[in-house]
Amino acid sequence: MSGEVFEVPAALAASAFIDNDKYLELYKRSIEDPDGFWASMAGRLDWIKPFTRVKNASYDPHHVSIRWYEDGILNAAYNCVDRHADRTPDKVAILWEGDDPAEQRAITYRELQEEVCRFANVLKEAGVRRGDRVTIYLPMIPEAAFAMLAAARIGAVHSVVFAGFSPDSLAGRIRDAGSSLVITADEGIRGGRKVSLKANVDAALEKCPGVSKVLVVRRTGKAVAMQDGRDVYYDDAARGVASDCPVSPMGAEDPLFILYTSGSTGSPKGVLHTTGGYLVYASLTHQWVFDCHEDDIYWCTADVGWVTGHSYVLYGPLANGATTLMFEGVPSHPNPSRFWEVIDRHKVTIFYTAPTAIRSLMAHGEEAVKSTSRASLRILGTVGEPINPEAWLWYHRVVGDGRCPIVDTWWQTETGGILITPLPGATRLKPGSATRPFFGVEPAIVDALGNVLEGATEGNLVLLSSWPGQMRTVYGDHDRFVQTYFSTYKGMYFTGDGARRDEDGYYWITGRVDDVINVAGHRMGTAEVESALVAHPKVAEAAVVGYPHDIKGQGIYAYVTLMEGETPTDTLATELTQWVRKEIGPIASPDKIQFAVGLPKTRSGKIMRRILRKIAEDDFGSLGDTSTLADPSVVTDLIDHRQNRH
Ligand code: ATP
Ligand code: MG
Repeated sequence: MSGEVFEVPAALAASAFIDNDKYLELYKRSIEDPDGFWASMAGRLDWIKPFTRVKNASYDPHHVSIRWYEDGILNAAYNCVDRHADRTPDKVAILWEGDDPAEQRAITYRELQEEVCRFANVLKEAGVRRGDRVTIYLPMIPEAAFAMLAAARIGAVHSVVFAGFSPDSLAGRIRDAGSSLVITADEGIRGGRKVSLKANVDAALEKCPGVSKVLVVRRTGKAVAMQDGRDVYYDDAARGVASDCPVSPMGAEDPLFILYTSGSTGSPKGVLHTTGGYLVYASLTHQWVFDCHEDDIYWCTADVGWVTGHSYVLYGPLANGATTLMFEGVPSHPNPSRFWEVIDRHKVTIFYTAPTAIRSLMAHGEEAVKSTSRASLRILGTVGEPINPEAWLWYHRVVGDGRCPIVDTWWQTETGGILITPLPGATRLKPGSATRPFFGVEPAIVDALGNVLEGATEGNLVLLSSWPGQMRTVYGDHDRFVQTYFSTYKGMYFTGDGARRDEDGYYWITGRVDDVINVAGHRMGTAEVESALVAHPKVAEAAVVGYPHDIKGQGIYAYVTLMEGETPTDTLATELTQWVRKEIGPIASPDKIQFAVGLPKTRSGKIMRRILRKIAEDDFGSLGDTSTLADPSVVTDLIDHRQNRH
């Protein structure tokens, strides 16, 4: 596998916010004096009343409590909107590109302020008060941003539910959050296809007696059923309200939002984030990880239904007064060059996406990329899953023309912001490694008993201390919070991920700990075997799981999807087995290879290995929580073609 190292481009080291010397110096300070470091970093926000206390966190399982800046008072929407509307009113805040390439909108900070105020007044009229939960089920349209910021402005807590979720999944999240108001649209549009959002809400609300108001944004204009007394069109309501609205002064520890995790490992958790620490952390990481300067055009492709959409489409960039691009569509519509065409049209300089998107675009070949310019790009990023070195190298060479550093950012819904990542002006890059911790972040690798391992090693990834963006609790279930994250290893936050640390202190995320395979006594991360498979020119994507094996304890079962135009054959299966044997060693060679038309993915694009594990074990009677699966039909096909039958 690639052992290549990519040096920091000299010009970037000179112009970036953080170079390597500064990284080393500031990192040391952030760990030795967290209070001093984080007090000074909080100065990037405007506070209504300054805090006197910085960090107050305990990981003791008997009283887990995480508080930052606890006596400070501020408002998140003010920090993301008003202060920029004062200083740079005509700067574009949100650059919106519709599903149809002909649809564009540029919203300045001044306009954003007016839109957010109006939306806030509509919420108030509808009876929403400070502390109330508001569920937002909207497509990637500017109104999603207005709605989130409007809630924050009046101190309500938003819970955004990805607009691809079914009525049942939506209902579960509405009930769990206890929302009495839902914001949706008549329909959404993705990849040219209409999604009946309002009808989904109607179906969901049959199971949510607590909801008394539904605001409906007109996206397509389709006439939808409106229930008298409950449903109101947003534009009708907005016409009757003022375009200014005071901000609510909020405590730093007042909740800002609830967001449910992707559900890759089990039933989704309602992650609660609060105001001050979250915003400091989202803002700082956005500026330094992406080296985002005044005139950058920044584009994160994540949906606002995921945490990446919260922290790095909205809160981080807007808190920094940046221009953030919001994209309604999908990478393959109307053609597989769409991402690159958007980049050329808007002169995007920073581009942040997920490995799943990169791998799917790779399968379409280089020409779809090379036919575009992409000359504006300077920095690339990835998040969501381990990125295989093969995909990394393609992203670097083809998309970035070898010019643009890639920040492989490791983090979680729970962490609020990026924790392990390169900094473009500071970090030499190794394809497939998330590299080093961000400021104030203390990762460690432990063995099964919780012993901290030193030097180059491999094991379970934990965090030894708190950072401001950390989640505060599982909404309504603090016990689950303590159980999930603080009970496995005493005094540590357990991430659920496995990692390797190399001789340079770089971290390599090996996948979820549950996914580690043990073959004849050798522990192996699924990411490693998958990367070897994906490195084969005919393979587009691979997912590897273990299954019970009489002799070896666990056998290796690989699901493989092929590049466009390739045909699955027994000869190719044998070739792939030998390929992995050569790349990693005989111990890693797959026992079973199943060619698949598609892999089961969460709606955020992550491979759901627990389902693949069940199929490999020939035990698919109970697949567990599949509510977050993007395309359930994929599973039927996988079951039909399974290789293990008892
Ligand atoms: P659930 O917790 O409900 O099972 P999830 O873990 O998929 O869902 P997220 O918070 O969206 O929910 O994802 C965080 C996880 O994604 C991390 O724990 C890690 O496994 C993976 N991940 C994110 N970024 C990276 C990255 N850069 N490299 C490797 N893995 C990553
Ligand atoms: Mg998780």
